[in-house]
Amino acid sequence: MSTGRSFFALDRDEARARITELGGRPFHADVIRSEAIDRRNLDYAEMSSLSRELRSRLATELPLYSAEEVARSRTSDGTQKLLLRFPDGAAVETVHMPSRRRGRGATLCVSSQVGCSVGCPFCASGKAGLVRNLTHDEIFEQFLLGQALGPLARSVVMGIGEPLLNYEALRRALETVRSEIGIGARKITVSTVGFPTRLNRIARENPPFQLAISLHSPDDEQRARLVPAMAGIPIEEILSAGDNWFATTGREVTYEYVLLGGENDSEDHAERLARRLQNRRATINLIPYNPIPDDEFARPAADAANRFHDTLVQKGLVATVRWSRGAEADAACGQLRIQASPQHR
Ligand code: SAH
Ligand code: SF4
Repeated sequence: MSTGRSFFALDRDEARARITELGGRPFHADVIRSEAIDRRNLDYAEMSSLSRELRSRLATELPLYSAEEVARSRTSDGTQKLLLRFPDGAAVETVHMPSRRRGRGATLCVSSQVGCSVGCPFCASGKAGLVRNLTHDEIFEQFLLGQALGPLARSVVMGIGEPLLNYEALRRALETVRSEIGIGARKITVSTVGFPTRLNRIARENPPFQLAISLHSPDDEQRARLVPAMAGIPIEEILSAGDNWFATTGREVTYEYVLLGGENDSEDHAERLARRLQNRRATINLIPYNPIPDDEFARPAADAANRFHDTLVQKGLVATVRWSRGAEADAACGQLRIQASPQHR
């Protein structure tokens, strides 16, 4: 009988036991893993080293993965966005961005939760609040389905959800990504709004990823409006947690700053941000706001974004402006939703 769990929800021992129950031999579990992960073959029917009988039993009793691809969109630069739906109807998006340089492998942007409870008013992902956490295998499946679109060189956990609020599942999924897909610690970036207590605890484990902290403002009062779930947590505490991360792991922190036209993109903001970050070894990614429907914010003017950047650089900081890819397919930062938009239906 089907247990309702998919192959990748099981750990190695559980998978071996389950395959034995279904009439196979324990090592067949390793064959299936290797077919799916190393050969990017996601169809039991194509796993010719398994007997026909076992293949047909697996097909009915033990789905390889649980997500269903319900929509796919593509932009002119080759970025593809998958809308994945799980058996309970919950859906997330995963974005595959090929490198601009040939033969380099793609970057995969994955989601960590269905929806988000943090409530940033400029972000589409959190508009409906949190629906539920993803399980470790649902996070890992995004890599399986993502690499089916082309080999992966990097990953960013910058899709839907706040990774530190679903950390155990994320940690387990990333461990499999590191050891089995082979994307190393320096090639995976987890972006978070930066809960300091959690960050300090996680830093002690020296987990296999780079850290990006979404800051968005040099002012506590403004940040509380832009990142509502963090109201009451002073920016200085978040920066100290970032310093502690660097001291403990030896990996520099990236600070992300969404540039909202007329809100946080003035030169004065840039100067105050520079003062906050002075004497810290960190990179600042400036992300011009990608408009989402029914929103109060405006895209920054290109010269305002450039001026902001130049002010930071003049103050000795390392900064880049990231005009987003994937915007045509609503696949850019902050445009990811948990429901199919009308053009996908
Ligand atoms: N919850 C995490 C990770 C997902 S969001 C976080 O907030 O860091 C990934 C990045 O996209 C964050 O830096 C976020 O601020 C940014 N983002 C959200 N909405 C955006 C929008 N409309 N335009 C540009 N960037 C946006
Ligand atoms: Fe959640 Fe990140 Fe969106 Fe804020 S920006 S609502 S933390 S996904």
